[in-house]
Amino acid sequence: MSASPIMSRVRSQDTAVQVLRRAVAAGSVHHAYLFEGPAGVGKELAALGLAQALVCERRAPGESDACGTCSACLRANLTHDRVTRHPDITILERALYEPQRIGRRTPESQDISIDQVRTLVLARAAFGPHEGRAKVFIVRRAEELGTSAANALLKTLEEPGDKTHFILLSAQPGDLLPTVRSRTMRVRFGSLPESTVKALLLEQGKDEAVATRAAALACGTMEEAMVTADPELLAGRDAFVLDVLDAITKSERGRGYELAEQAKKDKSKLDADLVALARALHLRLRAESTDAARPAANARRIAEAFAMVTESAENLAGNNNPQLVVESLYFKLRDVLRPALGQPR
Ligand SMILES: [Zn+2]
Repeated sequence: MSASPIMSRVRSQDTAVQVLRRAVAAGSVHHAYLFEGPAGVGKELAALGLAQALVCERRAPGESDACGTCSACLRANLTHDRVTRHPDITILERALYEPQRIGRRTPESQDISIDQVRTLVLARAAFGPHEGRAKVFIVRRAEELGTSAANALLKTLEEPGDKTHFILLSAQPGDLLPTVRSRTMRVRFGSLPESTVKALLLEQGKDEAVATRAAALACGTMEEAMVTADPELLAGRDAFVLDVLDAITKSERGRGYELAEQAKKDKSKLDADLVALARALHLRLRAESTDAARPAANARRIAEAFAMVTESAENLAGNNNPQLVVESLYFKLRDVLRPALGQPR
């Protein structure tokens, strides 16, 4: 648990942070925000930072940030269960709570249920804050709000009680109901610069080589970087993906032939590897398309690469020679992906 204000730990999101700090200082914090941008770039930290500033016991009017050290501030930090100990800061997320806690028999496998909204929001939003400052609801992956849950939330979102604020977080804001979106004020979060991802990994104790490699492959999100920097995850399924992307980034012809040579040894492993590669490109595509700052050409190139990989998987299923499938895929991917990975063609 840290004693610095949570907002000061948000990195490389200066525009968003400035908007929020100004609103806090002016006493004009909106009652419903939608923080949108790729997963793992600081949206949740900023939401907690805003909540902390709102509940802080020592923040004087006109000040833009929490003190970070009062009892309310300390309790605004996330616990190991990924909730907070502050009674006025409520976190909603699919399957975060045991079913019985929210009046259900079955776990929430599909979406954030109306039960969660009823138990955690509607039952509480009607009353003022416990400690008198503000009441904040943070919704992780808000696009997972079920239709009935979202509809139940609408009226409260539009006219929440005094001092009540909602912060919806989403990497796929297009999947939210338009009626929900239209009731929120958008704050955009971009993907992180490679240098920020690397610095954060180093702070978490990753060694220099791992941090450099993971940052280069993480497409600007800590979520991807953490997977990439985890040696156990690396050793398994994603090794092929990283080998391919690394070889493409460095434009090594020889590595393409090596990968093809290895591929012919185990066809079912290659099948799984191609699925993993398709998945990695899909994630990257999502990160690119949710970030307005990235050139649209990148997303097109990655979509093209994704189609190439699925086509190769089909060819493999159609009994084509695995070595040739990988060889031709590697060189096609290299041409289409190098510019999107920030490399000259
Ligand atoms: Zn405080």
